[in-house]
Amino acid sequence: MNEHLKNDSANIGNLLNIIKEQGTDYLNSIEERLTSVINNTISERQELPESGLGTEEALRVFNEKFEPTMVGSGGPRYWGFVTGGATPASIAGDWLTTVYDQNPQSVTEQGDASAKIEMETIQLLLKLLQLPESFLGGFVSGATMSNFTCLAVGRQWLGKEQGRDIAKEGVSGTVKVLTATPHSSSIKSLSLLGLGSGNIIKIKTEEGNREAIHIKDLEENILKLNGGPFILISSGGTVNTVDFDDFKAISRLKEKYNFWWHIDAAFGGFAACSETHQHLVEGWEYADSITVDCHKWLNVPYESAVFLIKEQYKILQVETFQNSNAPYLGDPLENFSYLNFLPENSRRLKALPAWFSLMAYGKKGYQEIVDNNITWAQQFGQMIENSHDFKLLAPVRLNTVCFTLKDDTRQNEVEQFLEKLNDTGKVFMTPTFYNQHKGIRAAFVNWMTSEKDIRQVFDLMNEIIAEIQ
Ligand SMILES: *Cc1c(COP(=O)(O)O)cnc(C)c1O
Repeated sequence: MNEHLKNDSANIGNLLNIIKEQGTDYLNSIEERLTSVINNTISERQELPESGLGTEEALRVFNEKFEPTMVGSGGPRYWGFVTGGATPASIAGDWLTTVYDQNPQSVTEQGDASAKIEMETIQLLLKLLQLPESFLGGFVSGATMSNFTCLAVGRQWLGKEQGRDIAKEGVSGTVKVLTATPHSSSIKSLSLLGLGSGNIIKIKTEEGNREAIHIKDLEENILKLNGGPFILISSGGTVNTVDFDDFKAISRLKEKYNFWWHIDAAFGGFAACSETHQHLVEGWEYADSITVDCHKWLNVPYESAVFLIKEQYKILQVETFQNSNAPYLGDPLENFSYLNFLPENSRRLKALPAWFSLMAYGKKGYQEIVDNNITWAQQFGQMIENSHDFKLLAPVRLNTVCFTLKDDTRQNEVEQFLEKLNDTGKVFMTPTFYNQHKGIRAAFVNWMTSEKDIRQVFDLMNEIIAEIQ
């Protein structure tokens, strides 16, 4: 055995303690950790060591080279994209995931039963999101893969409606996909699935600064299909303005027309946790498939998301993802296997961090995280609204604030302002383009964010805008 491997193995307790100390220091100071790194220290590539360095020396190299470039993206003022943090329980679950190193492919009577943990976690999530148990689900690496998984089953459904088995025969002809304001990852999924990102039938949005699907225009476009089956991709929270399609209206259309209804509710689905905002997702239980990200508002570490697909489509799902040409794996419907149910075969026990966090903080804990973030978004939105230099580009509907400089003649200064703001390392926001305006987005999904962060950032924004005046 390699000398370093032997030493490390004998010394595992000490190594884990060193990592624990370093991790604790990081987490205890994450509020001060810079949210952007200007001079990054990643210089030359490391050579592959001939017989290794051992873990302690590898850590020394990591700390010298990479550690200073780790940005505080899990901290309270990282408002770019939609970036969640990690709760203490989820970190505990994540560490144990690594230590136990299970592969939750199948539910077996003997051997690895970790798929059962995954199933239990899905049940906990359905409860949290107040969704019926008629959904089956599983964990994938992110909402992109969840959209991919859901749309793959939608594709199989559509083929069946036309008497084809697309999983076996491949895609032929065009598959009609209707949508208004899809997330880029759904478009990417259509490319991956051979459906063609260019084949989308774009539906109008509702009038009056909305990104939600125009229900009347949707119905008119459905009628043009003459009863042919199609896939509808709807939004449970668009990224710019967190607008929601009218799920109740769509569920009424679903009674009249034949389509696969997918909802991308990557972060917006958590509106279900809030008594004041759960009306936004009313009717979503009638969808055929739903995407929910866990590494955003559930605040578990990357990579974690779930797909939820109605149990009645289990056979289509297995047809799409079956791996059963490997004879030792048995009948895919008889012995439930995640391996016949989603894109990957071997996976880590992705459900465990979510399981820990859901068990540790429960329904009330998550309700509070979600409600707090909504409050911060509203307060920040109010500050923008009342300010001298900024204005909202859309109303604050849930947890995201989309804004720009008040004076439209200063549109060319938006980027400069954002760059200066992000360069402070005290906050991070991302650029966008909305309603013919260059804009800036701040998304609140971190459990740590507090009112003091909102005030601090708003003061900083006023300082910076004064500098570039
Ligand atoms: C973030 C997001 C995605 C993509 O999620 P990943 O986890 O990055 O793969 C998809 N849809 C929506 C609405 C999102 O907010």
